[in-house]
Amino acid sequence: MERYTLPYRDERGFCNIFLSAIGGDGANTAAKMLFLIAVEEMGLDGAYDAKYGSEKTGTPTDVSVRLCECGTKIRESGPTNRPHILCVFHDDLIEVLELYRGLHENPTVIVNTTKPPSEVRRMLRLPEGTICTLDASGIADRAKSRINIPMLAALCRVLKFPEDVVKRKIAGQWPRSAEANLAAFDLVAAATGTQRVERDPFLDYLPPVSPRGQIGYLNMLNGGAIDATTHSTYGRRNQVAGRGFVPEFDPEACNGCAICLTVCSDPGGLVWLKGKVAGLDRAFCKGCMRCVEVCPETKKGRALRRPDQARHGERSSALETDRAVSRSAGENGMSPEMLAERLPRSGGA
Ligand code: SF4
Ligand code: SF4
Repeated sequence: MERYTLPYRDERGFCNIFLSAIGGDGANTAAKMLFLIAVEEMGLDGAYDAKYGSEKTGTPTDVSVRLCECGTKIRESGPTNRPHILCVFHDDLIEVLELYRGLHENPTVIVNTTKPPSEVRRMLRLPEGTICTLDASGIADRAKSRINIPMLAALCRVLKFPEDVVKRKIAGQWPRSAEANLAAFDLVAAATGTQRVERDPFLDYLPPVSPRGQIGYLNMLNGGAIDATTHSTYGRRNQVAGRGFVPEFDPEACNGCAICLTVCSDPGGLVWLKGKVAGLDRAFCKGCMRCVEVCPETKKGRALRRPDQARHGERSSALETDRAVSRSAGENGMSPEMLAERLPRSGGA
């Protein structure tokens, strides 16, 4: 095989790849496969950082893959906030997570979207670079695969990894779903729109922002405790991650067993009042539906249901939600508008 050269390298010799997704998309699985191909098949080296786990389900998550030539000194293994290649699993994450920040000059951006590249450029405020758009969700549906496979295929195309090598690796790693995954892989070539974006003198690359600030020995609390007022995720609007799929709640059916509270992956999603659940707080609930799974059937039915399973005429959670947001905001000295304005930001130092 011809000697492979990475398409980008920073001053330390790394090509930085940043995948932004929702927990459950399989971004970590795709990135791990990308890393395996890079190291085992392409003779590269690198570093890997992922935020994953069941608690990430339904909330923004990201994976950083930093590739380099073998022999390059690797001094750190944390995430990158200076990607050369940005891979976005849902186009509505761009604005909310400010993914247009921190991009290296002349980057390549891969976005799962049905929007045209010109619209994606506007969303990214991209001064210059290459935009690859594909309907990865549609491809995954058609091929009966998952969204992470077309996104992985698009990444491998940008990195110019040999297609036969990538397909062999995918088929070997997941033999039972090989047919569907390879079908999704093949659909990507025909369905990817690539546009080269020439320099716009009125746009600038925006610096990365780390909302939580640096934590180190100079500002760490006694005993290494973390200052909750600075680093808490309070005010994070997780609803964007849950795509708005907050469970439907029927207060009449709630028996106050509190099992839902024990599984809620974002405490604050369920508002507990006077020995019962009073409603759901959209500012916190990320739509993971864990509470729905454990909520018991009572004589009056189940108090928590998936929105698509709610019975006709059942009370919507929206009113409860708005009330809960108001209360939560009032208790903390924030107006509902201020609370709603506070948006999450991914990435890291
Ligand atoms: S309220 Fe339910 S759906 Fe919302 S975050 Fe908690 S467990 Fe998940
Ligand atoms: S699990 Fe269901 S019934 Fe039990 S407290 Fe939660 S909402 Fe109410």
